[in-house]
Amino acid sequence: MGRGIQIAKLFGIKIRIDWSWLLILLLVVWNLSVAFIQLQPGWDTSFAIFMGVVAALLFFLSVLLHELAHSLVAKSQGIPVDHITLFLFGGVASIREEPKSPGNEFVMAILGPVTSLVLGFLLLFLAGLGLDAPAMDPGQPMAFIQPLGPLRTLAFWLGSINVILGVFNLIPGFPLDGGRVLRSILWAITKNLRQATRWASYAGQFIAWAMIFGGVAMIFGIQIPLFGEGLVGGVWLILIGWFLNNAASQGYQQLIVKDVLADVPVRRMTKRNPPTVPGDISIDALVEDYIIQTDDHAFPVMEDDRLIGIVCLHDVRKVQGPERSTRQVNEIMTPRSALKTVKPEDDAHEALMTISRNAINQLVVMEDEQMVGIVRRRDILRYLQLQADDVMPSGSLPTQGGGSLDDQNR
Ligand SMILES: [Zn+2]
Repeated sequence: MGRGIQIAKLFGIKIRIDWSWLLILLLVVWNLSVAFIQLQPGWDTSFAIFMGVVAALLFFLSVLLHELAHSLVAKSQGIPVDHITLFLFGGVASIREEPKSPGNEFVMAILGPVTSLVLGFLLLFLAGLGLDAPAMDPGQPMAFIQPLGPLRTLAFWLGSINVILGVFNLIPGFPLDGGRVLRSILWAITKNLRQATRWASYAGQFIAWAMIFGGVAMIFGIQIPLFGEGLVGGVWLILIGWFLNNAASQGYQQLIVKDVLADVPVRRMTKRNPPTVPGDISIDALVEDYIIQTDDHAFPVMEDDRLIGIVCLHDVRKVQGPERSTRQVNEIMTPRSALKTVKPEDDAHEALMTISRNAINQLVVMEDEQMVGIVRRRDILRYLQLQADDVMPSGSLPTQGGGSLDDQNR
């Protein structure tokens, strides 16, 4: 997910919009304008579009309120919230730490949907205030909207959408709010956060696959209760299922990675005495005498027993042809001043995060300005695989910044 653009700051929390949200905005405005034109013959086209825009912006506010509810509870529990991002399927608050107790998690998770439901029913109540019970015409179920003025039409639509938002989020599949509620209950029963997360994310994956199969069935014309039938609805359901499935498996993996690596010192995965290279040899010499001779991808560069930088395959690849015999390693390396380093006692989870965030493959381990060794992404992954049988090979590990197989260093 992209970082998005920041549009505001509320209660110390940055409010961001992901680009995919602009797509949803357009879709909502389009759909609503068309619906308003059909349902309200008295509205001309430009007024219907105007109302579509207003409704879409109020929808945005509703999602924001839902996320703010989670975030403010988190803050009240002492968990920092950096930002809220609104994207294709709604919003996400960056609540980085796990809640401290099942009770805390329960409250934090449930208050989002509760906010949406309360807001939704309140708006529906206001929309219907003083109206006779609508005579439902099965042929035209939405016809009762017609006598409603603009404000009531808005309240009716926004109320419905908030109720849907609240109900959807209560689906008991982690990491949806309902899944978190389920997790908090399992956590309270088993006293084991990891096991609770595993079961809650299985529930999430099960529901996700049910949605995907349901969506396929809809495309083939089968009527699914509540969702109907047809291509567009079917594709939507598949998309939501696919998204939920990804989120469910990743949420669980990230928790395990954190659980296994937190409080493990980097020292235990450090490769000591890695092959080093002098800075004043040519790139040709580096290739022939070091890269070909070992299976290492990155080499600390030393001068008088001091680390002056690191050079990796990626740096070598940038220099081609005869220049390789004239240019030296210290001209292409990442210098010491630009290197990310860790101390032996640093936390391995933090180290993995630093590696992921910077799209690099290793960190130099330093103690009192002396190089102790290097810790590579693959060493941390191997440690993970030795500790937990339910950690995937490498695919879904946190790789913000798009860690590739290339060794990069900057
Ligand atoms: Zn929520």
